[in-house]
Amino acid sequence: MKCPACDFSLVPITVGKLTVDVCQGGCGGIWFDNFELKKVDDPADFEGAALLHIPIDERRVVDYERRRKCPKCPDLVMMRHFFSERREVEVDHCPGCGGIWLDAGELAAIRKENATEAAKENAAKAYLGRFLSQPFARSRA
Ligand SMILES: [Zn+2]
Ligand SMILES: [Zn+2]
Repeated sequence: MKCPACDFSLVPITVGKLTVDVCQGGCGGIWFDNFELKKVDDPADFEGAALLHIPIDERRVVDYERRRKCPKCPDLVMMRHFFSERREVEVDHCPGCGGIWLDAGELAAIRKENATEAAKENAAKAYLGRFLSQPFARSRA
């Protein structure tokens, strides 16, 4: 498969049970087949961390404005959209096979975004826990 961003050849890389196609030594982008991204987007996921340090060629020029074709579906142009409601990371998504292309650094950004979400959830739970335990504490006092 060819890199949709810089036309370099993608190399399959296996992390845990997952195999993804990576533009190693090229632009550093990663291709995820349908649902594969869900397996490594959690910052607590150790295996996904291996994908955060892909060797890239600094001289490689990536045109972020160009419309990208799916590396799997001939002639299907991918759609750009935000990964989550937080609207911080934009990804390329193939309407045909459901695959997702991430540019270098985007996986890290998504994992960071999810880490923030998890932290917020934990903070909310901790706050709620304190709130709920208050009447109990008062009745004991
Ligand atoms: Zn590339
Ligand atoms: Zn496709």
